[in-house]
Amino acid sequence: MLEVKFYPGEGLEVNDLFQAYMTAKKYIYQSPRGKEIFDALEDNLNQKTVLHVDPTTDSTFQHQVASIKFDAYWNPIKLFKLKPKGIQSPALGLIHELGHALQCQTKLAWYEERSTGERYLEIEEDNVATNETPIAIHKNEPVRIQYRDFIGANWFTGRAFTGMSLQQKVIYSQK
Ligand SMILES: [Zn+2]
Repeated sequence: MLEVKFYPGEGLEVNDLFQAYMTAKKYIYQSPRGKEIFDALEDNLNQKTVLHVDPTTDSTFQHQVASIKFDAYWNPIKLFKLKPKGIQSPALGLIHELGHALQCQTKLAWYEERSTGERYLEIEEDNVATNETPIAIHKNEPVRIQYRDFIGANWFTGRAFTGMSLQQKVIYSQK
């Protein structure tokens, strides 16, 4: 199952974060792979993913060895700068983290063999290729050729974003 928790911060209340999550989910759910990921996490009754929607953190994923509970963290107001160019939306960051939950759900031994040390990159490349990129293509967002084509998670700062609503920010991307 998928449980979603909301942590107020950065001037955003629980209801704002709920709206941001619903906007991101609706956007991602329009792509076939995005629908598969959400459905697989929500329909699983044996393993639980807790999604922490927290505007003060970075989007990450954590799993404890041999656990049946996984924790994904999502910041709805940070976007992802890629190299050589492009910006992926916060919504795409959400499905990247939930993609890790699906990896744990469907191939936990495979995941745990790689979860420490250098082999961790294999987890990331698999997640980018299998989960993130098909959705990025469907949503006309820029794609990463490799996991490390990532410069950083940035706030929506600058004049271009003045007056943009939270819902617009959640699904904002640029090629
Ligand atoms: Zn990742």
